Amino acid sequence: MQRTSRASSKLLHGGLRYLENLEFRLVREALRERDGWLSRVPELAHPLRLVVPIYGNSRRGRWMVGAGLLLYRMLAPRSQYGDFLWLSAADLRARDPGLHADGLIGGWEFSDGQMDDYELGLWVADRVRDLGGEIREHCAVASVSASGELTLESGETQEYERIINVAGPWSETLADHSGVSLPFELDLVRGSHLILDRPCPQAYLLEVPGERRVFFVLPWKSRTLLGTTEVRQSLDEPIECSQEEEGYLLSAYNDYFKEQVSADQVVDRFAGVRPLIRSARNPNRATREYALHQTDRLITVLGGKWTTALALGREVARRSRKRRTDR
Ligand SMILES: Cc1cc2nc3c(=O)[nH]c(=O)nc-3n(C[C@H](O)[C@H](O)[C@H](O)COP(=O)(O)OP(=O)(O)OC[C@H]3O[C@@H](n4cnc5c(N)ncnc54)[C@H](O)[C@@H]3O)c2cc1C
Repeated sequence: MQRTSRASSKLLHGGLRYLENLEFRLVREALRERDGWLSRVPELAHPLRLVVPIYGNSRRGRWMVGAGLLLYRMLAPRSQYGDFLWLSAADLRARDPGLHADGLIGGWEFSDGQMDDYELGLWVADRVRDLGGEIREHCAVASVSASGELTLESGETQEYERIINVAGPWSETLADHSGVSLPFELDLVRGSHLILDRPCPQAYLLEVPGERRVFFVLPWKSRTLLGTTEVRQSLDEPIECSQEEEGYLLSAYNDYFKEQVSADQVVDRFAGVRPLIRSARNPNRATREYALHQTDRLITVLGGKWTTALALGREVARRSRKRRTDR
C-alpha cells in the first residue's frame, strides 16, 4: 500500500516559511509539537541547526529572514531551540567551503528538528499496541459510514462506535466511495526527494534560483537529502520522482555548491503526495493546516503534518470523547 509518512523531508519543524502565509496558529502549534517530539523520542529525533544563506540577489534579504526568525522565536517563547544567529560570509565559508561564495553576504543559523520518519512510525505503532490497540496491516477498507459500519475490500463488514478516516491523501477518495460529502477538498501535490552519495556538512534552507520556493539540503545517514518539489497529481498516477523533478532538484543544488552533482550521484529517490486542503491556486501557498469533519460516528481527517500529528490525534480524541458524552 502507498503511504506519505515515509516520504517526508524528515523535519520536525515549525515551518519558518509558513509565516509568509501568516499561519501563526499552525507555526505556534508546530513549534510546540517539534519540541514535544524532541524531548519525548530523543533516540529517533534530534535538534538540527539549519542555515539560510543570504546572497546579494536573494529574494528574502537579511532583515526579512531575521524578522521571521524573531517571530519564530516569539511564537515558542519557552522553547530551548529558539536561538538564532547571524554568520558572516567568512564564517559560512569556513564551515562549508563547498558553498558558492560569490555574492554571499552571510547567513542566519537557527534550529528545527530532524527525525527518522520510518522508525518514528514504528514507534507510534508500538505505542498503539502498548495501549491495547490492534493494528491490521494490508487490510484495505472499501467504505465507511456515518452510522459506524466499515466494509473491507474482502466484503467483510464490521460495526464500530467510532470510525476515524485517516487515510492521508486517500481520505477524500474513501469518503467519496462511501457517499460521505465533505466541506473541504484535497489538493494532492507530489513532493520528491533525492539522496546524493556525498556527505552534507551543513543543513540548509535555500531559495530555488529564480523562484520564491525554498528547498532543503539536509544531512541524512552520512549522505545528502535534497528536496522537495511541488507537482499536482491524481492518485491514479504513480507516486514517484519524475526525471523533470530530478533535474530541477539537481540544478537547484548545483546553483549553490561548487562541486557539481549529476544523476550518477543520486543513490535513491522517493516521493509522496501531500494531502493539502485546497486553499490557494499556488500549492506553495496552500495551508498546511488540518481539518476534521464529523458526521455522527465518522470523523474524517484531512491535511496535516508529521510534526503536528500528535496534536491532531489529541483533537480527534477530544472530539470523539465529546460526542460520546453528548449522547
Ligand atoms: C514530500 C513531502 C514532504 C513532507 N515533509 C514533511 C516534513 O518534513 N515534516 C512534517 O512534519 N511533515 C511533512 N510532510 C507531511 C507529512 O508527511 C504528512 O502530513 C503525513 O505523513 C500524513 O500522514 P497520514 O497518516 O495522514 O498519511 P499516510 O502516511 O499516507 O497514511 C495513510 C495510510 O492510509 C492507507 N490507506 C489509504 N486508503 C486506505 C484504504 N482504503 N484502506 C486502508 N488503508 C488505506 C495508506 O496506504 C497509508 O498507509 C511531508 C509530506 C510530503 C508529501
